[in-house]
Amino acid sequence: MNSTRRQFVKATAAGAMTLLPLRAAKSQLKVICSTEDMAALAREVGGDRISVESLARGYQDAHFVEAKPSFIAKVHSADLLISVGLQLEVGWLPPLITQSRNPGVQPGAAGYLEASQFADVLEKPAGGVSRAMGDVHPLGNPHYWLDPNNGRAVAQGIANKLAALRSEDAAYFADRYKDFAARLAQSEKGWDQKRRRCSGAGRTRTPSPRSGCLPSTASGRAGRGSTRRMSRSSARR
Ligand SMILES: [Zn+2]
Repeated sequence: MNSTRRQFVKATAAGAMTLLPLRAAKSQLKVICSTEDMAALAREVGGDRISVESLARGYQDAHFVEAKPSFIAKVHSADLLISVGLQLEVGWLPPLITQSRNPGVQPGAAGYLEASQFADVLEKPAGGVSRAMGDVHPLGNPHYWLDPNNGRAVAQGIANKLAALRSEDAAYFADRYKDFAARLAQSEKGWDQKRRRCSGAGRTRTPSPRSGCLPSTASGRAGRGSTRRMSRSSARR
């Protein structure tokens, strides 16, 4: 090997060493979420330091999810389990948590996070609730993440929890949250403008699909990332 080639090999080896992600040795925190909406928020703040999976698929009604045996294995190996709470998943998640035999993610343990604690919850029924009242949510409306302010608060709560579980990455999670909050604020400006424009247009004529003012197709185009998800699901539900 001539000296130039030797130098090149040395340099590439050194380059490869520095390129090798420093964290390759450290595993990502494994985060399991009950719904895709929580998973989207977790992804925003967790970045590449976590792996995220949702148990329910986005197209499923989170009130009624068929608990598969594979879910138990997922919860079993989770470092953090994030639920929506307010009894949204009461019909299927609690037995999965019990059967997972993972002490770290049982309610009350450090690896269990019920996101509703960060949200401003609406429609808390006053007084007793009965079946005769139809499909009411006894603890308040669990679809709280559809409000961008709640989405922001939940994202911050998740970032704090991730920092508590992995303190060496606390600054990383805080930065990711800041970036998310800034993009959300930017999207909110756009949504406000659109709302003003659409409410104006609605008064004078029937909005055409092209105007972007029809409810189900329109709001899906605003925003990016999980903020877009929030907006789209708010149109859907
Ligand atoms: Zn509901």
